[in-house]
Amino acid sequence: GRHGGQLGELGFVYQGLEFNQDAFHIFLGLCAVDTPEHVEIIFRHLKQHNIQTARMGAYKPRTSPYDFQGHGKACLPWLFELAGKYDIKIIAMEVLRPEHIDEIHEALQETGNPTGVMLQIGTRNAQNFELLKAVGSQSTYPILYKRGMGLTLEESLNACEYIASEGNRNIVFCLRGVKSMLGLPHRNLIDFGHVPVVKRLTRLPVCVDPTHSVGLKDRAPDGIYDIFHAAAQGVISGANMLLVEFHPRPEQALCDGPQALTMNELDHFLADMQLVRKCY
Ligand code: PEP
Ligand code: MN
Repeated sequence: GRHGGQLGELGFVYQGLEFNQDAFHIFLGLCAVDTPEHVEIIFRHLKQHNIQTARMGAYKPRTSPYDFQGHGKACLPWLFELAGKYDIKIIAMEVLRPEHIDEIHEALQETGNPTGVMLQIGTRNAQNFELLKAVGSQSTYPILYKRGMGLTLEESLNACEYIASEGNRNIVFCLRGVKSMLGLPHRNLIDFGHVPVVKRLTRLPVCVDPTHSVGLKDRAPDGIYDIFHAAAQGVISGANMLLVEFHPRPEQALCDGPQALTMNELDHFLADMQLVRKCY
């Protein structure tokens, strides 16, 4: 890659799944793990669709300290148990501190299921250099790095260098929208034009997160969700991965309910993504 650092690997294989600039994976699921029932509903739907990847947040970085902070390590044993039951191979999950890597690692070992994880660095930690160094040096898990919401692309690519330079080059670069003062209908300005740029400057697979870009599941006049459009836009731009929030009962969600798609919308969503991938 032209970025000039160590972001120049030709992708990687993890849990038998390929991640590179041609591959495509959908990681969908709960913003925050709440109940075993909700996790199981999601996993069952994924299994029906032969999808072996999911997103499930245990540690949540919340804007307010009074909001639900995630079940943390308490939910990991039953989460990984259920993942094994439904053949989920990789769960994308955010870590906020280096100790979370160990907690996840221990829970995986204790569960004994062949489930793996992709460690997410959230936008709020996009320049937390000590955490970046920790996931770079202490982790054999792939890293899903989310672009900083107020960072230049260059600053975020340098943050990935912090991970790579410590030895872990299995990185996926995720665009999730950036802050803007322009009073947009969406929570974050959609930066999907950067998908091909990142692919050109590095060899990293690129992920798009339509959920946190749009931020609200408002219906457009034609009845199609903005989140559907943003996801399709990501695919058209060449994304190698989508990270999307779903909840079986968004009104009961402990985090980000208003932006979650429901299981009734899953078939439509997957069919749409398949269609755009065939067209472009
Ligand atoms: C999330 O994926 O739930 C999340 C908090 O994302 P971001 O860091 O992009 O806000
Ligand atoms: Mn969320």
